Amino acid sequence: MRISKIDNNFESKNVNRTTNATLNNTNYIDKSGLLMAHLNNISAINNISFTGKKYELGLSHDELVERTSKERFGSIELLSYYSPEFQKLEDGDRLALKHLVKAANIIGKINMQLDDVNNIPFKKYLEKEIAKGNEDAVLTKKLFDGQKGAFSQDMEFNHISLIKGMTQSKGKGVYPRDLSVEEFHSILESMIHDGEIEEVRKMLNQRTVVVRDGDKLKGIDYIDYFKKDFSKVADELEKAAKYSTNQDFNEFLLYQAEALRTADPMLDAYADKKWAELQDTPLEFTITRENYDDKFTETIFDNDKLLSLLANHGITPIAKDFLGARVGIINKEGTDFILGSKDLLPELAKLMPYTDEYEQVINKDNKQTMVDVDLVTVTGNVGEYRGKITLAENLPNSDKLSLKIGGGRRNVYHRQMRLHKNDVNNPYQELLIPEQQSMFDPNSYHYFTIFHENGHSLGPKEGNEKLGQYRNIIEENKADMAAIAFTDKLMEMGVYTKEERDALLVNFALQNYLKAKPDAHVAHRVRQVMQAKYFEDNDVVNITKDGQIYVDIEKVIPTAYKMLEEIIRIQIDGDYKAAERYVNKNFVWTDNMEYIAQELRKNSKMLNATVKTPLADYLAKQ
Ligand SMILES: [Zn+2]
Repeated sequence: MRISKIDNNFESKNVNRTTNATLNNTNYIDKSGLLMAHLNNISAINNISFTGKKYELGLSHDELVERTSKERFGSIELLSYYSPEFQKLEDGDRLALKHLVKAANIIGKINMQLDDVNNIPFKKYLEKEIAKGNEDAVLTKKLFDGQKGAFSQDMEFNHISLIKGMTQSKGKGVYPRDLSVEEFHSILESMIHDGEIEEVRKMLNQRTVVVRDGDKLKGIDYIDYFKKDFSKVADELEKAAKYSTNQDFNEFLLYQAEALRTADPMLDAYADKKWAELQDTPLEFTITRENYDDKFTETIFDNDKLLSLLANHGITPIAKDFLGARVGIINKEGTDFILGSKDLLPELAKLMPYTDEYEQVINKDNKQTMVDVDLVTVTGNVGEYRGKITLAENLPNSDKLSLKIGGGRRNVYHRQMRLHKNDVNNPYQELLIPEQQSMFDPNSYHYFTIFHENGHSLGPKEGNEKLGQYRNIIEENKADMAAIAFTDKLMEMGVYTKEERDALLVNFALQNYLKAKPDAHVAHRVRQVMQAKYFEDNDVVNITKDGQIYVDIEKVIPTAYKMLEEIIRIQIDGDYKAAERYVNKNFVWTDNMEYIAQELRKNSKMLNATVKTPLADYLAKQ
């Protein structure tokens, strides 16, 4: 689970909205995985799409200039060669870092293919055009590198396609591009009727690319599908383990390498388990696996007939993982601060609603490690700046096997992302009534993030998978409410001063207001709209006659607890229909939200952004 930031300090005047949603490429004929791979290779060599047409740039010259202008294109800079964090490292760790960066870059390349089959051939096309002196290709590449792919949403949720005439398919790179939802469901049904239960099971797990196989479909494990690249990652991790000065870390790297050589979820579980125990290591390396972005598998939850057919065979469809990698250096001071929250978790667990009805995510040993990290690089899913960037991640998620073999979780905070956020003016401040404008504290968001992440470790351990496409929305909603509902308890425990408490509550009530209405597919944003609606309905956030915002601070905590009760009820029951009703009832874009969105857009400009990685770029060349 992760929490991400959204840059609300921007706006979008004069930008052509790029909404290519009507275009659907149905020309692709990839009847088998082999043919698809073959076409992929050919297209990569010749810089053409599968239709045989040469790629063309998706955005006009004017829009490219606008979107990459200083005001509208932001950046976050990670560690450089001269950063004291790097200079202070022992020689062995500096050497290890080089191999970890190389491993992370390959993971980035793999994820680009999981994201869309066109990404890599299009990138090659761009590089060729740049070599020919095409200025627009230079600008397009800037956007491509930031969003790490051809397709993205910007900070106002406009869909951007960098390839003319193409949009991202719902099945991303993990399902055939020409597979419709209807055909997908009917093939699954007929395969079940034909008794191909194990094939179907394999297709509907987190870690397979689904390809055509005659009239049928089949799932190929990621490790087999990207065999060559994963082996290279494993090689780099083994080299890093030779140099790094920390035995525990090295042991993890070797487990992780093994899991990349053989397609076996249990090997991942061993690696995850070891990873989650790492607390005192100089370096940080993670392969992140999260399945928030696959909406295609989740369509099954809207098909009652198919769903019960699958249930009869003990199959619960699980969305596909997208992969990222993070390389960094542990920040001791920041880690100590965050660790202070760990001992509080068992106390907070007791305050959760309906505690006698379920086993909590945190077990009695409180197996939760936490680190604050100075980042060297973030690649793949975790480094994509698509309207937002990840601030912290608490992994593994509940769908992963390591939790079932007694593994814990590890929470990693991204220091450079946070510092960048604090650098930017708070876009909400001036919208408040004057008496509340002074109540801002730059640390509020960090405190909130810490208890949001901890919030994932509270609540029922089982039942979430049954909530299908609503699972992630509700899980994020829970973490937010748990972060807020116990604020007074935390003040009592000495975690917050009264001023910090008030600032946190005001800041939280406002941060749910977005710069534009999101579409229903972005879990993190949907839950923010839901929370804004719920808090509006409970008169927490009010707009005065003069159009200023007033937060009724004393209502924030009770409202959060009330919402938390509703969430936990749904999670305990694992009731899909109840989840659907709950989300639909609260995912409503109100007049107040529209008004605040317009105000936010008035003073803020950024639409796209990128992460700069000077140290990683240097190390990758060594
Ligand atoms: Zn989260």
